[in-house]
Amino acid sequence: MLCIALVFVQALSQLYLPTLMADIVDIGVVKGNTPYIIRVGVFMMLVAAAGTGSMILGSYLTSRISTGFSRSLRTAVFSHIETFSLNEFDQIGTSSLITRTTNDINQIQQLIVMMLLMFVRAPLMSIGGVVLAFTKDALLALILVASIPILFALIYFVQKHGVPYFQKLQVKLDGLNRVLRESLTGIRVVRAFGRNHHEMERFDETSRDLMKTSLKANRTMGLLFPGLSLILNLAIVAIMWAGSFRIDAGHLQVGDLMAFIQYAMQMMFALMMVSMMFVMIPRAQVSANRIGEVLQLTTGILETGSHRETKEKGTLEFREVTFRYPGAEKPALENVSFTAGPGQVTAIIGGTGSGKSTLLNLIPRFYEIESGRLLVDGLDHHAFLQEELRDKLGLVPQKAILFSGTIADNIRFGKPDATDEEVRYAAEIAQAAEFVEALPDGYDSLLNQGGVNLSGGQKQRLAIARALVRKPEIYLFDDSFSALDFKTDARLRQALRRETEEATVLIVAQRVNTIMDADQIIVLEDGRMVGKGSHEELIKSSPVYREIVASQLSEEALG
Ligand code: ADP
Ligand code: MG
Repeated sequence: MLCIALVFVQALSQLYLPTLMADIVDIGVVKGNTPYIIRVGVFMMLVAAAGTGSMILGSYLTSRISTGFSRSLRTAVFSHIETFSLNEFDQIGTSSLITRTTNDINQIQQLIVMMLLMFVRAPLMSIGGVVLAFTKDALLALILVASIPILFALIYFVQKHGVPYFQKLQVKLDGLNRVLRESLTGIRVVRAFGRNHHEMERFDETSRDLMKTSLKANRTMGLLFPGLSLILNLAIVAIMWAGSFRIDAGHLQVGDLMAFIQYAMQMMFALMMVSMMFVMIPRAQVSANRIGEVLQLTTGILETGSHRETKEKGTLEFREVTFRYPGAEKPALENVSFTAGPGQVTAIIGGTGSGKSTLLNLIPRFYEIESGRLLVDGLDHHAFLQEELRDKLGLVPQKAILFSGTIADNIRFGKPDATDEEVRYAAEIAQAAEFVEALPDGYDSLLNQGGVNLSGGQKQRLAIARALVRKPEIYLFDDSFSALDFKTDARLRQALRRETEEATVLIVAQRVNTIMDADQIIVLEDGRMVGKGSHEELIKSSPVYREIVASQLSEEALG
């Protein structure tokens, strides 16, 4: 509100100044009245100072308001995104979500600044300008009024042709972000394969594409300002020409003509600002829609209720579960059924792309299943709140993900109130204690940017410690031992066996000897379960399993 009042003061002072100037010229200069010039001159300065002061304060307030707004909006969008299932991430795309929380919100912020500054000012200046112009000389004012429709025609034309480009512009920006993200996160691979040039070209191409669209949009917009100044200058010439006749005829004084021209300029300038706003509105509208899309996208995950008293603590059952990724033709999992109980180790084995990770990701409800049922503790897993469900789980993802912070912070991620002793113990079981304690700062060692200073196997062990510190009812290990050498793998499994005696353990593994002693082994092929049983049973009954075992045994024999 104060902001609007300030803008109001500023606009008024600007409207008042030309009249004062006209008085100086007509009364002071023409008649040679020096004291009058000084008196009014000082007054003019005061008015101008008030105008400038309120402008500075107004801009300050405007930026406070607009940045505050975009901060709240950004927080709202981010916390909404946090509720998404992986389904929604796949749908919009991570890069686009990043553009939407940054660039798109900035577009809106810019519009708000413009609106706050122009909302009061522009109408006041243009209407005030016209009215004051009429009081000076009605005939001349008609010239001014006549030029207004031409102005609006121009604004309309530019708007109509420029707007469609803005939509494309934001989409291309998404594309650029995606390329950038891919090649920066994959920089090692890019360099190792000597594909720097290829990536450069890819970036260049996307960037050029963005530039072209941006050029097209701005070319249309570029017509606007020259067009407006052309009209403005023509109008001024016309006013001066007509004004000279009026002065000759004695209807008008020189000072009044000068004031008049200033009003004309102020009015046109205000209109220019309005037209700028018209350019910004569609752009911000595109951005607003994109943000709205994110906010309206509700997660496919339904929260139906919360059930705490359960009979079969720690059991997990898949009943004819079928799941398909959004847009995929073939289901990634088809009719998978098995039961896993506490104290049992269930192993899942199968070729790459057979659906092992998918199976594990269904348990924490990262995705919703298509048909069949998934039971946890003997209850449909929808009976739990997501948070309750995830509290029961300790997931070690296929790719160990660590966050910036200390090693202890990263392990504590699994259980924020874990004591130092618990953190140390978890690290010990995960076979991480040895290398962590060898570091100069031990558990307080900082992990640079998600652990670039660690090896793959070290990261995996920290991710395992993070799951262990939770002491969950159900452990989900997604290929978590693949980066470990045989000896560490064996030691870790032995320690885990003792630690997870009471828990339900699901292990996805590639190596047969990691899972040979599991209580049950599930063999997946192309999303279908083609075998279930112990190692000995499967050797006899499952050709697929036999094949996997045979290929690895011969490899070992060769090695
Ligand atoms: P595994 O872990 O056994 O190697 P996954 O479970 O990761 O296999 O993948 C199973 C199948 O699902 C593959 O054909 C893969 O292409 C597909 N898939 C995996 N993740 C996604 C995803 N986010 N969107 C679409 N398809 C996916
Ligand atoms: Mg996998």
